[in-house]
Amino acid sequence: MTREAMEYDVVIVGGGPAGLAAAIRLKQLAAERNHEVSVCLLEKGSEIGAHILSGAVIDPIGLNELIPDWKEKEKGAPIETLVSDDQFLWLTKTGSFRFPNFALPRLMNNHGNYIVSLGEVCRWLGQQAEALGVEIYPGFAAAEVLYNDDGSVKGVATGDMGVAKDGTHKDTYTPGMELHAKYTLIAEGARGSLSKMLFSKFDLRAGVDPQKFGIGLKELWQVEPAAFKKGLVVHSQGWPLSETGSSGGSFMYHFGENLVAIGLVVHLSYENPYLSPFDEFQRFKTHPEVAKYLKGGKRLVYGSRAINEGGVQSVPKLTFPGGALIGCSAGFVNVPRIKGSHNAIKSGMLGAEAAFEALVAGKTGGDELTSYPTALKASWIWKDLDKVRNVKPALKWGTVLGTLYGGFDMWCHDLGIRLPWTLHHHKADHETLRPAAEFQPIQYPRPDGVLSFDKPSSVFLSATNHEENQPVHLKLRDPSIPIAVNLPMYAEPAQRYCPAGVYEVVTADNGQPRFQINAQNCVHCKTCDIKDPAQNIDWTVPEGGGGPNYPNM
Ligand SMILES: Cc1cc2nc3c(=O)[nH]c(=O)nc-3n(C[C@H](O)[C@H](O)[C@H](O)COP(=O)(O)OP(=O)(O)OC[C@H]3O[C@@H](n4cnc5c(N)ncnc54)[C@H](O)[C@@H]3O)c2cc1C
Ligand code: SF4
Repeated sequence: MTREAMEYDVVIVGGGPAGLAAAIRLKQLAAERNHEVSVCLLEKGSEIGAHILSGAVIDPIGLNELIPDWKEKEKGAPIETLVSDDQFLWLTKTGSFRFPNFALPRLMNNHGNYIVSLGEVCRWLGQQAEALGVEIYPGFAAAEVLYNDDGSVKGVATGDMGVAKDGTHKDTYTPGMELHAKYTLIAEGARGSLSKMLFSKFDLRAGVDPQKFGIGLKELWQVEPAAFKKGLVVHSQGWPLSETGSSGGSFMYHFGENLVAIGLVVHLSYENPYLSPFDEFQRFKTHPEVAKYLKGGKRLVYGSRAINEGGVQSVPKLTFPGGALIGCSAGFVNVPRIKGSHNAIKSGMLGAEAAFEALVAGKTGGDELTSYPTALKASWIWKDLDKVRNVKPALKWGTVLGTLYGGFDMWCHDLGIRLPWTLHHHKADHETLRPAAEFQPIQYPRPDGVLSFDKPSSVFLSATNHEENQPVHLKLRDPSIPIAVNLPMYAEPAQRYCPAGVYEVVTADNGQPRFQINAQNCVHCKTCDIKDPAQNIDWTVPEGGGGPNYPNM
């Protein structure tokens, strides 16, 4: 069946900070320079913000450039909690040590930053974009990249709707739509599914380090007024991940009206296949230093999302014929600061500026926006990432030594010394697991239902919803691998790294183990696509609008 096609100057895939900033910048330039540009933005969530999960403490540097008057009251930006106190702790099982603030490198200082719900900020950015004339289509997932005869990118196609689990068409069947563009900007965030196809098609990762990732697990709590300290930011390292020789860090941000965003980022370079990031997060909350804020409070929302951690060494080639990667599709997170939204916004602006100049010059698309990577490397994004380039790779020496080295390296920068070496990431995260036979299963405490919870009740709080009768969007390249290879070798780790209980090994009627995929629970974190040791799982987009419905993550 032929699909309907629509033509645009620029199509943007993804309504996060990067995609929305690009859309806004294009329309601002069009107005300033009196040169009409048609812009369309696709978002797979049911609405803008529904799939956004972040901390979030934002550095406003990006927003200050995008919307300089965002602080004006009538603009209505949902950004009001300034950071008032910044604490960095080392946790032991029952105790803690606070690093004095004067000992922390300057860039770790959150003074002048704001605590927000990034989902709410994106909803607001979406309104700004629509007011400028951007066509935004939430509930439409870009499923396919389209190519011109010369191999350049022609745009994207949304997925078909109304296809049953067995591939037959239901009464509601509607074929996907083709969106053709002179330039296609990919803003899918960490581990995008189209980005992955483009990496491979245009060999965009040649000559750079593998991308590294963490899985971020987050809850939003309403706490007792007495436990609430508006503007407080607490980061920690150490327990509980120190018990398993794995690494990562936690965050706790007090904002709004008695709201506390609490989360744990577990580096996906962990080796122990029995590790369960979800259960690590649950026991983290029982630490006295954390529990004292949550006791008496109510958990409102749960979710999970991967975060890029490779830094500057892992940034791929940013352009391909007919388009570019912006934001975390490429990966611009500053890991020690746990901040990427400012760089996502700025990269979206730079990508938009390059596309706009090409359109004004009368280009008809299909070429590479080469001015974009040049501008990006000359911008503050590159400086931000260069300063911290050795911090994450140093963690291969262990959390304590790696953190001390990272602190030393960042302090050198503060003193004006750029150390002349760059440490590298040698292994992708799917290569780091060691055989289960080398470890004992980890006995996690049972959830107490007060501070710690199980997966089903957690997924419930993500408001995840997928049309049940549709093809499974988690595709196994070889369906035999989970049971034939991953189970004997790694005790099938998908059962534990998935934060939503999607993967289970159950006993079939014939008494043999069977791999079961509960795809409707998927919260779109992308961890399975990253961590499966055989790289056998391809996360693809489900029917548009499916997935979590985060109100304010
Ligand atoms: C746990 C955690 C804590 C963090 N804390 C902070 C923090 O405190 N401060 C900070 O600055 N940064 C933080 N970050 C990083 C920050 O969230 C990201 O850098 C930023 O969100 C990247 O923006 P983006 O627009 O590139 O991608 P995203 O924010 O991931 O947005 C991508 C959007 O594209 C959509 N999409 C993806 N694929 C498709 C498709 N094929 N079709 C249609 N739509 C699609 C998604 O649904 C999503 O809405 C954190 C990240 C995590 C995971
Ligand atoms: S199935 Fe994959 S993407 Fe979905 S929640 Fe589980 S690990 Fe995340």
